[in-house]
Amino acid sequence: MTFENTLAFAQEADNNDDLKDFRNAFYFPQHNESDAIYFCGNSLGLQPKNVEAAIQTELHTWRQLAVEGYFKGTHPWLCYHEYLRGSLAKIVGAKPTEVTVMNALTVNLHFMMLSFYKPTTQRYKIMMEAGAFPSDQYAVETQARHYGFDPADVIIEIAPRSGEKILHEEDIIEAIEAHKDSLALTIFGGINYYTGQLYNIPLITAAAQQAGAVAGWDLAHVTGNVPTQLHDWNVDFAVWCSYKYLNSGPGAAGGVFVHEKHSNADTSRLAGWWGNDEKSRFKMEKGFVPKQDASGWNLSTSQVFNMVALKASLELFDKAGMQNLRAKSIALTGYLEYLLLQLHTGAFEIITPSNEHRRGAQLCLYFKEKGKAIHEQLMQNGIIVDYREPGVIRIAPAPLYCSFEDVYKCVKIIGDVLGTS
Ligand SMILES: *Cc1c(COP(=O)(O)O)cnc(C)c1O
Repeated sequence: MTFENTLAFAQEADNNDDLKDFRNAFYFPQHNESDAIYFCGNSLGLQPKNVEAAIQTELHTWRQLAVEGYFKGTHPWLCYHEYLRGSLAKIVGAKPTEVTVMNALTVNLHFMMLSFYKPTTQRYKIMMEAGAFPSDQYAVETQARHYGFDPADVIIEIAPRSGEKILHEEDIIEAIEAHKDSLALTIFGGINYYTGQLYNIPLITAAAQQAGAVAGWDLAHVTGNVPTQLHDWNVDFAVWCSYKYLNSGPGAAGGVFVHEKHSNADTSRLAGWWGNDEKSRFKMEKGFVPKQDASGWNLSTSQVFNMVALKASLELFDKAGMQNLRAKSIALTGYLEYLLLQLHTGAFEIITPSNEHRRGAQLCLYFKEKGKAIHEQLMQNGIIVDYREPGVIRIAPAPLYCSFEDVYKCVKIIGDVLGTS
């Protein structure tokens, strides 16, 4: 797409967008009695309009059937997480049996590490990106302590080169090779939540495994944003949350991928009855018999009300198609970048890689000054973006509900504040 810096171009691009009607499937926060423009889908996705009825359905089942709801009703709760696997598998590029839904992201990261981080005196190191999301840092640090290690001996953080903000993939690969005798696990955020950098997941996965380590991924900022091929890439495990690009509401149940090569009963885990084979689950007998797929990691009764919104939201992903969403997303974020560069100003720097294959929807802008003023001006104009000290604004146009016109209006205001448009 050849971009133009005009409102007419933005509106024409929206007219030609096959996915434009999906916007009507969402509720927008209100600003001066009209829809705000929303660029925080990387933090909390908007509410799909079909969620309310979906919740009502389960409330009705509970009211009418009570305990019978596990076996009867519109969607029997016994296997509620099963309803989500097919759609999620398409989004992450897996077999439905390699995906499950349970708990929440950090909890799942711990459970996966309990299965796949098996430190020995020789091989005990964990590699991650410096500046990983704090919850991931805490998880890894406390796993190290849990096994009696000093986290400083265990954790290898890969940092950008001096004066830079983005990691070089060759630095990651080099570090993996340098630690090949002691590396047990790599756990990177597929997209760094802050910089928006998308790592080469198959490349890093292959290098980690070549070195004899397990490759795990935190896909919080990837799932529903950038399509992946977790099965074909031979990823060992991955975890993600459902409330960012997957639009499933605060605290929605998290997602897990476990490659089928690990799904046999021999893989150790901390278990609960919902991961037990259904044939014997209700016999209430001794002896855990894991289901031979990712759902063998489920522990507790399906958290139906934390999954209803996800189920409703996934219907939209099924309709839109992940590849179509990605194509629109590349154009939309490309347009955002193009307009920002058209401001021809040194007042800010785009930290996110300019290569569209090395980022998702989000751009991270670092303003040397006026960052706070720009954020305030955007919010006053009903444009919701994320601000972090010092001077960082993250803008994530989610392709399901953001438009080219939204992007145009946003950059117009930034230009007005900077006095460069
Ligand atoms: C959003 C996010 C989290 C949040 O974890 P929860 O357990 O869902 O609160 C963790 N890690 C990363 C990389 C994230 O982006």
